[in-house]
Amino acid sequence: MIRENLARVREEIRRAAEGCGRDPADIKLVAVSKKKSVAEIKEAVQCGQITFGENYIQEAVAKIDQLDPQLQWHFIGHLQSNKARNAARCFHLVETVDRIKIARALDRHAAELDRILNILVQVNIGREPQKSGVAPEKTEELLRQITTLPNLRLLGLMATPPYSRDAEASRPWFRALKNLGDQLKPLDLFADPAKVELSMGMSGDFQVAIEEGATMVRVGTAIFGPRIQ
Ligand SMILES: *Cc1c(COP(=O)(O)O)cnc(C)c1O
Repeated sequence: MIRENLARVREEIRRAAEGCGRDPADIKLVAVSKKKSVAEIKEAVQCGQITFGENYIQEAVAKIDQLDPQLQWHFIGHLQSNKARNAARCFHLVETVDRIKIARALDRHAAELDRILNILVQVNIGREPQKSGVAPEKTEELLRQITTLPNLRLLGLMATPPYSRDAEASRPWFRALKNLGDQLKPLDLFADPAKVELSMGMSGDFQVAIEEGATMVRVGTAIFGPRIQ
């Protein structure tokens, strides 16, 4: 099942990219494996998947230790300072940096581990009170503070728009994140001045996110099936 699902999602990514004149190779598929077993992840690895997303540090660390060290792990959950060391140690990219305190903790642990940690800044693009993420108008200030931290490499922005069953409802939010990235790009705050990574789009709306400029899509259910809570 995972094999067929992955093939279908890859095909849909290709179709969405080509439909809007983009190169499918510019879009990274992050297979979101939270609440899924090592066996299920291995099945996806056998189909060539190497990038996985996890929301919970303890769950992720237990699984990462049992899997091929070549795999790339993205942290996409809410990050607490007391978990920052494991996040800095185990993940290739932390997508959910939304406050300077957590950025400083990650920077300090990355320095101790003698590594440079890739990060994205999570933006609360829909200004939802219950959601993590920096407010859009405060993003520039946070980025300026992050550029002073030598062991973090800021690659771009991440967002999760307000939930809707209608994928089209996400489009204005995806467009808003892309516009924010375009506004911030010339300010020399991102590690690569030529590229701002945009992590946006999930199982229900990744095609729309690709049309609006996503460079990473985070897809769980459409690959691994529903999560049993
Ligand atoms: C769970 C999760 C996903 C994947 O959601 P699906 O709808 O299962 O594709 C993507 N991003 C974040 C931040 C998540 O928490």
